[in-house]
Parts: sequence; structure tokens; C-alpha cells
Amino acid sequence: MPDEKNNGHDAPVEIAGAGPAGLAAAITLARAGQQVVVHEARSEVGERFQGDFQGLENWTTREDALSVLKNLGLETGFTARPFRNGTAYDAWGRAYEVRNEAPLFYMVERGPGPGTLDSALLQQALELGVEVRFNSRLERLGGPGILAAGPRAADAIATGYHFETDMEDGFWAICDDRLAPKGYAYLLIMEGRGTVKSCMFSGFKQEQTYVRRTLEAFQRLTGLTMKNPRPHGGVGNFRIPASAYSGRHPLVGEQAGFQDTLWGFGMRLAIQSGVLAARSLLTGEDYDGLWQRELRPQMQASVVNRAIYSLLGNPGYRWFLQRHAAGPDPRGVLRRQYRLSWPRRLLMPWARRRYQSLRKDVSCNHVDCHCVWCRGAC
Ligand SMILES: Cc1cc2nc3c(=O)[nH]c(=O)nc-3n(C[C@H](O)[C@H](O)[C@H](O)COP(=O)(O)OP(=O)(O)OC[C@H]3O[C@@H](n4cnc5c(N)ncnc54)[C@H](O)[C@@H]3O)c2cc1C
Repeated sequence: MPDEKNNGHDAPVEIAGAGPAGLAAAITLARAGQQVVVHEARSEVGERFQGDFQGLENWTTREDALSVLKNLGLETGFTARPFRNGTAYDAWGRAYEVRNEAPLFYMVERGPGPGTLDSALLQQALELGVEVRFNSRLERLGGPGILAAGPRAADAIATGYHFETDMEDGFWAICDDRLAPKGYAYLLIMEGRGTVKSCMFSGFKQEQTYVRRTLEAFQRLTGLTMKNPRPHGGVGNFRIPASAYSGRHPLVGEQAGFQDTLWGFGMRLAIQSGVLAARSLLTGEDYDGLWQRELRPQMQASVVNRAIYSLLGNPGYRWFLQRHAAGPDPRGVLRRQYRLSWPRRLLMPWARRRYQSLRKDVSCNHVDCHCVWCRGAC
């Protein structure tokens, strides 16, 4: 039986990557008394996000997302603005007001600044005695360790702008393949700053066209005004691996491919997988067994959802919005959508085949290409 405190190893556990997955793992290990060294390739936490606003989804569990994090031993001192209401549009510009009693998601900021998710996790890790080495790209792990280095490929991209604005806080989304093929365009505003993006699952080569159309649509529908717009984009890596070990080292977060294949809400999966990997090192439990029990059903449901969503097209998105978004309990609808019900189980083999083929974006030849997909995948 390994010693709970040091996993039977005298050597510190090394973690590659100070994203949410790596820091959640570090915090869990350090709380159990384990020495931990986190290597971060960049000079600060969350550098690839540059102050991006992201939604910490609050629908996959009945329990509130912040309470889930607290129960995992993570402090939630970061700015997390609850969003209960928003507006979704179909491709014909019709608005669907989304209203919920409980928050649908918490808007958080990513990056190195004050109040961000990344800074709060870093702070907690440092207070627990974790050593964090910046500008330290880990190429190889010798002793005990966890690989938390983020996406290894790009299955979707989200690209657009960060900006300042006089607009009120809020969130808006548009489901229209002319703006975001097989995905959605979104606008998030909090306290005078915002992000507007096209989140696309295909058509990466034409990203600039889609971003331009996204801006035009939000200007028309919401009166979007941007001051000091700065381009920002990133990639998402969605994959359910057979095993999330590399040799004997657990892979966590997007390094493992853990993501919400439907819409890219990956932060909670990253954090949860980091905690599970740390727990496996502390107790000797099999990490594959842990994530397959706790995370895989939800990820499988999201693969089926993605396969269906990518077939819908604009009339199908409109049907979904009419039927669900403006109903009395959108959070409940979403929670049920992410459950691996028996119809979704039956559809799983079909969805896997279909999703695989979608990962190859035939519209991009990747030759001398600087689209976000290629920048992220290289
Ligand atoms: C534009 C965009 C918008 C998004 N919006 C949302 C959203 O609204 N809601 C949501 O839930 N999710 C969202 N996501 C997804 C979410 O950001 C990710 O799922 C999450 O950050 C994954 O966490 P991670 O720790 O696995 O990886 P990361 O956050 O990518 O962290 C990995 C870290 O490892 C470092 N690293 C890489 N290689 C090495 C190495 N060899 N050695 C040391 N360090 C290394 C990197 O510099 C990085 O800091 C979005 C993603 C993008 C790109």
C-alpha cells in the first residue's frame, strides 16, 4: 500500500503544464503532503488565453459548479460572475431569450492577471508549497509525474477579438453555419471588456471570413461596439482515448483530449481529471479506471451530441432553439443532453465514426497555411 503522503516516492512529483489541469493536480497532491514541482513552458500562467473570458459550465451536474470545485479542495477566490440570462439567435436573426433561475455558467477570466482562474489556482498551489518553474518546458519525465501540457492537436478553433466596450454585461450566441460552421458564434461582456468569437468545427481555412461575418452579425443584432480590438484565437483538442497514460504517467486535461466535444466547455473536465490523476498517484488506484468511471460517460454523450449537431444545419439549430433554449428550464435540458442515456449509448458507434471523419477538415489543405488550426496544431 503506497504511503498516502508521498506516494511511496521520495522524489517530488513533476507536472508538465500550469493550466487548470496541472494546477488542480498539483494542489491535490500538495494538500496530501506530497512535494510537487510544476513546469510551465511560458513565462506566466494562462498566457495562451490573454485575458479571455470563458464560461465555467453549470449544467453537467445538479450540484453548482463552484461547489463541485470546493468539494474537490479547490479555492474559488477567482472572479466568477453568474450568468442566468442571455440571448441566442438563429440564422434568420430571430432571438430566443434564455432564462434560468440558477446560473447557466460562471464567466471567468483566463490568463495571468488578478482575479483570473489561472492566478487563483497558482496562488493556492504556491501557498501549499508547490514549486512552479516558469519558462521551463518539460521534454521528458523521469520519475513520478503528470502530463498536463494542453492540446496536442486541433479539432476545433475559436477565433475573434478581445476588446473594451461600453456595452452592458451579457452573453449572446448565434447558431449559423455561415458564421461558425458546425459550431456557434458568441459574444461575452463583463465589466467593460469583452470577447467575440467564431467557434468553428470546419472551414478553418476561411476563418477570417467567418470572423468578419460574426462581427457584422453581432453589430446588427446587438449593437456591438468594440474599442481597441485585439485578435485572439485558440484551438481545442477533443478525443476520448483508450488509455490516458503515457508510459506510467497520467495525461490530464486537453493533453489527454478530455473536452466537451459538443461545444468546447473543457475547463471542468481539465480540473476534474487533474484531481483524479493526483488521487491515483496518492492512492495507487488506476487512473484509467477513475476517469473512465467519472468523466467518460459525459464525454461520450458529448461526442454523440456533436455528431447529431453537425448534421442539423441552420434549420436544425433553429428547431433546437425553438424547442429548448427559450423553455422554462434550459439548465435541466442541457444536463439531460450531457447524460449518456441508452439512445445515446446505441448511437455511440455511429457517432465515433462520424466524429473521426469530421476531425479532418477537408476545406484546409494545411500547405503554407497560417489559419488558427495550423498554428495550434504545429
Ligand atoms: C478560445 C478558447 C475559448 C474557450 N472557452 C471555453 C469556455 O468558455 N469554457 C470552457 O470550459 N472551456 C473553454 N475553452 C477550453 C479550455 O480553455 C481548456 O479546455 C482548458 O484550458 C484546458 O486546460 P489544460 O490545463 O488541459 O490546458 P491549458 O489550459 O492549455 O494549459 C496547458 C499549459 O501547459 C503549458 N505547456 C505546454 N507544453 C508544456 C511543456 N512541455 N512543459 C511545460 N509546460 C507546458 C502551456 O503553456 C499551458 O500553460 C476554451 C478554449 C479556447 C482556446
